[in-house]
Amino acid sequence: MKIQAPKGTRDILPSEIHRWQYVSNVFAGLCDCFGYKEIRIPVFEHTELFQRGVGDTTDIVQKEMYTFDDKGGRSVTLRPEGTAGVVRSYIENGMYSLPQPIKLYYDITAYRYENVQKGRYREFHQFGVEALGAAGPEIDVEIISILYMFFEKLGLKQTGLNINSIGCPACRKPYLEKLKEYFRPLLNTLCADCNNRFEKNPLRIIDCKNEGCKRFIEGAPLQLDNLCDECRIHFAGLKAGLENLGINYKIDSKIVRGLDYYTRTVFEFVSEKGGSQGTICGGGRYDGLVEMCGGPSVPGIGFALGVERLLMELDIQGVTIEEPQAPDIYIATLGQKAVDLAMDMVYKLRGCGVKAETDLMGRSLKAQMKYADKKRFSYTIVIGDDEIEAGKGVLKDMRTGDQKDVSLDSVVDRLKNQVKERDAAAR
Ligand code: ATP
Ligand code: MG
Repeated sequence: MKIQAPKGTRDILPSEIHRWQYVSNVFAGLCDCFGYKEIRIPVFEHTELFQRGVGDTTDIVQKEMYTFDDKGGRSVTLRPEGTAGVVRSYIENGMYSLPQPIKLYYDITAYRYENVQKGRYREFHQFGVEALGAAGPEIDVEIISILYMFFEKLGLKQTGLNINSIGCPACRKPYLEKLKEYFRPLLNTLCADCNNRFEKNPLRIIDCKNEGCKRFIEGAPLQLDNLCDECRIHFAGLKAGLENLGINYKIDSKIVRGLDYYTRTVFEFVSEKGGSQGTICGGGRYDGLVEMCGGPSVPGIGFALGVERLLMELDIQGVTIEEPQAPDIYIATLGQKAVDLAMDMVYKLRGCGVKAETDLMGRSLKAQMKYADKKRFSYTIVIGDDEIEAGKGVLKDMRTGDQKDVSLDSVVDRLKNQVKERDAAAR
């Protein structure tokens, strides 16, 4: 029986890997410039971490987690996101006693049991950033500016930034009372999920995707209109900071984000044409999370960006990522002596950073040349007994068709230097 990949997972094939590597490299390079260091966290954690850190009332915890008992009878969960794991690591490794802020980034897979559709998978990829220890709006601006510059560097132009503030525990409490007052008479017209949310976390009603509920959500009171003075000042600082850097934004007072631990700043980068899977990136401040996970009271802010959606957006906006350059040299062989020499030559060339290959299939000379042509090698050289005897061969430039007699001894040096020059020019 043929076994297929599980629904919602997909292979990233060699033919497309350059796109993934490119965006990963640009992201990592940018994080480095901003002073963020990579952290690698486990794929699975104790289930309790996500229940606490993501929040019991969220869709992620209620419906989407891959949770199972391991052979020792402990409940573990495949990470549905990165923030909880990073915060656990921050606490567990005592990073709060190092100079703050701690600035981290990650490039991970994440797992959610979702209705699979375009831009929505069960295994997907996220780039994320978390900054812990700084409370002021400057770090919010810095975090958002990483994304702004990232999109700019990738050549994405029509990706909009929406921001909002969802307050702090002090102003959220009276606001939630107002919200409940508004929704109470509407409860029998709202969906079952919203009825549930009304009891457990009424803010989440604002996030409901159900058309029937959306009608009523339109008129609901907004947290943004009900901020305390400190939250209002923080939000003003964020807006001024973004304007200072020339970063365009819109205020969208309906963004609440799907997670329980967000405070104050929340934001999204959205595709103009991506439809319901149009949110490329979401983030926000989570001043209560570290404490909720058993650490000291430390503020934090971060974002997570969906890499599949980012690549979709590049397609939508017509941004192509060039295939990497063709391999450098193919050494075609005739006879066992030539095979031995070629194996030695490609080994040395590879050691100098030249992409070199020779026949591994026992092909005829003609078939070897056909292969080299198909694989778009820059150079080929044919070695047989005659060439070995003379210590010379013909180096062919596959693009121009130019042929040159070269001594076999000089091939390694010649190509090494050529590749060095090319790489210098590329930089
Ligand atoms: P959505 O509203 O689309 O379900 P979300 O609020 O659940 O998104 P977050 O938890 O904020 O998403 O995750 C950050 C980003 O990860 C999203 O903006 C999106 O780009 C991406 N993402 C989330 N879930 C998936 C998925 N199942 N498949 C692919 N990408 C995803
Ligand atoms: Mg979701």
